[in-house]
Amino acid sequence: MEFDRMDENDWKYHGEGNKSLVVSHVQHCRVLRLLKYPAEDSENPPQTAEQAFRQIQNIVDFSSNVMSSLLGGKFVHSGEVVRLPLEFVRQLSIKIQHQRPAWRCDKVMDIYSGCALCLPNLTSPTLHQQTPSPPLCIEIKPKCGFLPSPKHVSKDIKTRVCRYCMHQHYKVANGKWKRRSLYCPLDLFSGNRQRMHFAIRHLIEEPQNNLKVFKGGQCIYSSKEGSDESPDLNALLHHLRPYFLRGNNRINGHITTKAVLNDFIQVLVNALLSASGGDGGQVTDRAGGGRSFCEASLFNTERVRHGSQGLPTNSVLSRILQTQMLDTLDIEGLYPLYRRLEQHLQDFPKDRTRLQIDGPYDQNFLEKVQKSSMEDDGSVEYAAAKVHQYRIAMTAKDCSIMAALVPGVEEENDDEEPQAFSSSVSILDLDPKPLDSIPRQLRLDQKIVSCYLRTGGALP
Ligand code: ATP
Ligand code: ZN
Ligand code: MG
Ligand code: MG
Repeated sequence: MEFDRMDENDWKYHGEGNKSLVVSHVQHCRVLRLLKYPAEDSENPPQTAEQAFRQIQNIVDFSSNVMSSLLGGKFVHSGEVVRLPLEFVRQLSIKIQHQRPAWRCDKVMDIYSGCALCLPNLTSPTLHQQTPSPPLCIEIKPKCGFLPSPKHVSKDIKTRVCRYCMHQHYKVANGKWKRRSLYCPLDLFSGNRQRMHFAIRHLIEEPQNNLKVFKGGQCIYSSKEGSDESPDLNALLHHLRPYFLRGNNRINGHITTKAVLNDFIQVLVNALLSASGGDGGQVTDRAGGGRSFCEASLFNTERVRHGSQGLPTNSVLSRILQTQMLDTLDIEGLYPLYRRLEQHLQDFPKDRTRLQIDGPYDQNFLEKVQKSSMEDDGSVEYAAAKVHQYRIAMTAKDCSIMAALVPGVEEENDDEEPQAFSSSVSILDLDPKPLDSIPRQLRLDQKIVSCYLRTGGALP
């Protein structure tokens, strides 16, 4: 692709998060991920073009040198920083503006730096050229899949109800979402097929920003924030039906809605459990069985008692969970170390570079994190290593999984066999989290827990 000669008509709006906006190429399997700024700053960019370039290069380095080693290179596509003509970026921003959801428009697309991240388009895997129906891609933002250890938390509830479930009560109390989701990450990360099925069914019922479904590269199912309406499940089922007509679902040529949904979830669970990193079959032993069930989940506990599997090692969920668990101290146990680091940086500002607080995210950074001794010797190096680990865990708690399901080529006269899918799984959104997000994390944690203790436990 020639980035110095770009035409906005070759690109279309694809989606956005809180930090970036994504456009996809109409022909090639490529996306551009552009930075966003608060709308107040729209006249006055908060950073120079060189700083923006540096920021995106940091994202690429963090993803390729740090997150990719921890999560597995097979799952991670780090992309490259590109420089774009400013006129192209301006025209693009005008062209896509009306397609952006209103609730995201408190931020504007960066039209000043001309820098962007170029990535493979994970919603339209190239394999599909040969297949009759377009691939289905399911994006899941799973959030944190374990409970903190009782050693470091001040409120006992945090060891019994997971962060996501408590946060749901807080979001509904503050009007961010109208309804609470019954999805619980601990069910998804359990490795138990029934629990995973249950978790995904609730993601579909109340997707919020944790689930999107794409067909042939187009988003066909997602939530609108603050909206009263639920997303159109019937429309989703209408899209899915043709993929699940084969096999023993058919009753006189008709397939029930329930069967379509069940088959779809089944295929997705299989994709998530497939171990793409070599040795499959093995099972990750979760640290203490007591930390893998959330009291707020409505999944019937009795059913779990028997046959509680773990996750296959090297499955995408196992790799994400292991990386999330680098948060060993919880925000409450980490905060004193953050303070130690902050104090030191105030006294010795030059150590910011030596301790690699803002990168570079190179091999050396990864080694510091992996070698950090378990004993607190009171040093600033220990504090910095624990803070780095915590920030990596935060990234793993905030990333998304993209599961691409590609229907196999149909063989004639084989209607009895269920439709076969090949799947590929990727992880996206692996930006480093800034140091100053840590005090905010502590305050948010306190608000969520006190809101839950005040109101949550009582709600149905
Ligand atoms: P968040 O608010 O979750 O932190 P973000 O602002 O960091 O989000 P991303 O999650 O990276 O941004 O991207 C926003 C959306 O764009 C994603 O949810 C996904 O739907 C889409 N997207 C991002 N990268 C790709 C890609 N490589 N291929 C296809 N779609 C993508
Ligand atoms: Zn939960
Ligand atoms: Mg995201
Ligand atoms: Mg992000």
